Amino acid sequence: MTLTTYQGACHCGRTRFEVDADIDHVRVCDCSVCRRRGALTHRVPKERLRLLTPWSDLSLYQWGSRTAQDFFCPTCGVLPFRRPSDPTAQELAAGVEPFDGWAVNVRCLEGVDLASLPVRHIAGSRI
Ligand SMILES: [Zn+2]
Repeated sequence: MTLTTYQGACHCGRTRFEVDADIDHVRVCDCSVCRRRGALTHRVPKERLRLLTPWSDLSLYQWGSRTAQDFFCPTCGVLPFRRPSDPTAQELAAGVEPFDGWAVNVRCLEGVDLASLPVRHIAGSRI
């Protein structure tokens, strides 16, 4: 694995961050919020994301089990990253591993060729 440091930002620039990642794929989830949002995400351990602007500048959207944290810019509305929800009992029984990290919106990163990345389709609506 080769980590690259990417610069990330929302559309208006109020939210800026850095992330160290080896982006060899992106995830597309079909759950109720992801399919509306259309983000391409990539998961990283939490210590690999560094917010360069104040946390207090971000808005937080929580829904459903309220274990996910969807951070978005209150000025331009773009979601730069989110903390995925904790697995449900059903998901744990199905072998889904808990994940304590960030799902970065790869669309917000500079220097990524989105068209070249393999897409993993995640069936978030059915688990
Ligand atoms: Zn913004």
